[in-house]
Amino acid sequence: MTPLARLLARRISATGPISVAEYMTECLLHAEHGYYSRRDPFGGAGDFITAPETSQMYGEIIGLALAQAWIDQHRPTPFVLAELGPGRGTCMADILRATRSVPGFTEAAEVHLIEASAALRERQRRKLDNERITWLDSASELPDAPLFLIASEFFDALPVRQFVRAEAGWQERLIGVHGDRFVHGLSEPAPLAELERRTADTRPGDLVELRTAAGAVIAAVASRLTRYGGGALVIDYGDWRSLGDTLQAVTGHRYVDPLAEPGLADLTAHVDFEALAVAAADTTPSSLTPQGVFLERLGITARANRLAKTLGGSALEEHVAAHRRLTHPQEMGSIFKVLGLTPNGAPPLPGLDP
Ligand code: SAH
Repeated sequence: MTPLARLLARRISATGPISVAEYMTECLLHAEHGYYSRRDPFGGAGDFITAPETSQMYGEIIGLALAQAWIDQHRPTPFVLAELGPGRGTCMADILRATRSVPGFTEAAEVHLIEASAALRERQRRKLDNERITWLDSASELPDAPLFLIASEFFDALPVRQFVRAEAGWQERLIGVHGDRFVHGLSEPAPLAELERRTADTRPGDLVELRTAAGAVIAAVASRLTRYGGGALVIDYGDWRSLGDTLQAVTGHRYVDPLAEPGLADLTAHVDFEALAVAAADTTPSSLTPQGVFLERLGITARANRLAKTLGGSALEEHVAAHRRLTHPQEMGSIFKVLGLTPNGAPPLPGLDP
């Protein structure tokens, strides 16, 4: 058993089974043994490669999209440029480099990073050592100002609760211990107001995921957008509506059993974009757009061709593979989706349809 597994098993024996969300929270963010608290999991030598780590083009295009949105909204100055869950800081570094050519943008930007992991904050500090950055624990601490924000593979790391539809009400999927293994069980059925929107499209036995913590984050972002203007880009894997168990664990670029080694594997679940749009009540959500389509509309192929001219040998091969990985429907192009949020009446974000 991992050290975290021993702690969780003791807690479950003392106070009873825990929810999938409690399990995820401990596995990812436990101060000592949590996956993100312990180390930097990204990159080829780590456990998985995210979009900004795949190619500089990703952050560049996001930066230029946010800068165009800033121009479309008459260049509010100053404004907050924010990222939720910035990982290694690569995306923000690429955003800041690409937008340096946009007159006035960098000077007006007050960069804020929302990051829970002390280890990753340190990593971001080193990556962005020439920039003025403010770190925050939560989106609710964002200043009252126009807000241009990116969240890329952030929401998938927020914990989900899982519920199985019963004849009447819902049963929560819980995690208990049996010997030295963690096992799933179900609570007694009970009605659940948050899942009323799902009674029409589910049947007894269906499993639905609920990401309670996402609502507060989105509400904090949306309230700044409606009051001060701006725009938010949420990019993640998932769909308009969640259905089924999507909890997954990855370590060393392989899928593993989510209950097998708590704290040692990354745990995520697909994002329910409809739930985010519902939580962003007073803003206008864009159409949910595949990442490949979004990046192509914003000219990733032209950018890729230009970069290719400066490369040769294995660097060129890697660059071509990275372009494919970000955009191809069988790689990140389709399963990853982009949702834009803008104040009512503002122009849609570049690359996204109303
Ligand atoms: N956006 C980056 C990293 C994605 S991993 C990339 O695409 O490469 C998820 C990130 O969210 C990590 O930086 C992790 O530490 C952070 N994170 C996870 N849960 C969080 C929470 N509750 N509050 C703030 N940051 C969190």
